[in-house]
Amino acid sequence: MTADLDRPCPHLDFAAYVAVNRLTAADDDPTVVGYSADITVECDDCGEPFRWTGLDAGVSPAGPTCSVDEKTMCAPLRPASADPDFGLGLPGVAVIRRA
Ligand SMILES: [Zn+2]
Repeated sequence: MTADLDRPCPHLDFAAYVAVNRLTAADDDPTVVGYSADITVECDDCGEPFRWTGLDAGVSPAGPTCSVDEKTMCAPLRPASADPDFGLGLPGVAVIRRA
């Protein structure tokens, strides 16, 4: 689809990029203690990035968060065979907005 600069893009097609990361115990300890997926979405026609709604900025092993610019969701995940609490012992970081 060719972009028409006189009309707003209807955002009909999308591209999603997913990077799955293995989180190790330490730089010198290759033991995998968790996994995380970084997900970004943009319009495949005009390239406009999309922002995630309803997520706090930061990184948490307990649930999805987003980057400060809200364009990347960081979601913890685990193998289907792992215990439900797999990876929950990892430290996280929160970004707090001040009005
Ligand atoms: Zn678009």
